[in-house]
Amino acid sequence: MFNILKKSKYNFSRAGEVITNHGKFQTPVFMPPATKAAVKALSPQDLQEIGIEIILVNALHLHLRPTEELINSFGGIHNYMGWPKTILSDSGGFQGWSFSQKRYSAKLGVLSKVTDKGIEFISPYDGSKHFIDAEKAIEIQFKIGSDIIMAFDDCSPNLDNKNYVKLSLERTKKWALKSLKRFQELKKMAPENNTLIFGIVQGGSFLDLRLEALNFITSLPFDGLALGGETIGYDMPRTLEILDALRSSIPYDKPLYTMGLGASPYDIIEVIKRGVDMFDCVSPARLARHGALYNGRLVIGDNSSGSDISFESEYRKGLLKISNSCFAADKFPIDHECNCYTCQNFSRAYLHHLYLIKEPLYFRLATWHNLYFITQLLHRLRENI
Ligand SMILES: [Zn+2]
Repeated sequence: MFNILKKSKYNFSRAGEVITNHGKFQTPVFMPPATKAAVKALSPQDLQEIGIEIILVNALHLHLRPTEELINSFGGIHNYMGWPKTILSDSGGFQGWSFSQKRYSAKLGVLSKVTDKGIEFISPYDGSKHFIDAEKAIEIQFKIGSDIIMAFDDCSPNLDNKNYVKLSLERTKKWALKSLKRFQELKKMAPENNTLIFGIVQGGSFLDLRLEALNFITSLPFDGLALGGETIGYDMPRTLEILDALRSSIPYDKPLYTMGLGASPYDIIEVIKRGVDMFDCVSPARLARHGALYNGRLVIGDNSSGSDISFESEYRKGLLKISNSCFAADKFPIDHECNCYTCQNFSRAYLHHLYLIKEPLYFRLATWHNLYFITQLLHRLRENI
């Protein structure tokens, strides 16, 4: 269930809350990926101290290891990984696509093949053969005990080949119907279960295909909408064009999720102004592990134009590179205004040292800061809607 609590007078941004089987989370929200049932370098306790309310796992990865049966035998994914709040699961369409990008492994042969029936693939772990279709993808997510299930989709590449993207979209439409049908059957068997299902809008970088996809998905009773495909978040100017082109056709009463977007504070502000409520991205944690730490602040004007919320930083893309020798004796925290555990207790000099010696503590402190930084940025954005 989605409640809109506040909306902007100047743009499409809104503050809301989504209620799930495991409490509620505030939107706009950033969801850190815990692809294989762990957010790299942080414990569930750390995540809660940071203020994270929802994380994302991947059904296809968990199907391979440790399997949905094993997770189910622990009473579900929340018990298995010790995370008490909301979990959204991705159906595996993206992984099917990402395996197929590699196409061939010298050791394992062809890694995946997408047909109208589903995705055939070889486990990158042990070479075993697997097949997933829409029904199976929903069953895995249900068995895991996810709070928000994603429909099975064929992730469209950021290609100029319109015929290919059109074919792929037809596949996604068929799979959306099958996903919804299986979801409704499973929910009938567990009426007390408040699991939600989101539909995925594909269509690559083509505005007419995106609109066709949106109209199809919104004609079905999904609880939320997601924009998927390689283009989203990867090609930001096109992502914003797609959001602008679709905006007047997007239903206002459902949460809107841009999949795989959230690497940069600049991008986050732009999509929130266009009405996006949820996003996930591996980048904040990955950037942290590679020494790129967020630094900067929101600049909020008098809002008379509705577009005067922006982000500024003295560092390029708002990222401080901790490996830089200029930080070797720097007594300041990563960010002067950040109240995170790392910034309250450690200097840039100490983090620089930990990074150079690849100390595991570095990964924890750096990831803590980057996730806290994005979470706080959203908190301030929500306050200013
Ligand atoms: Zn910090």
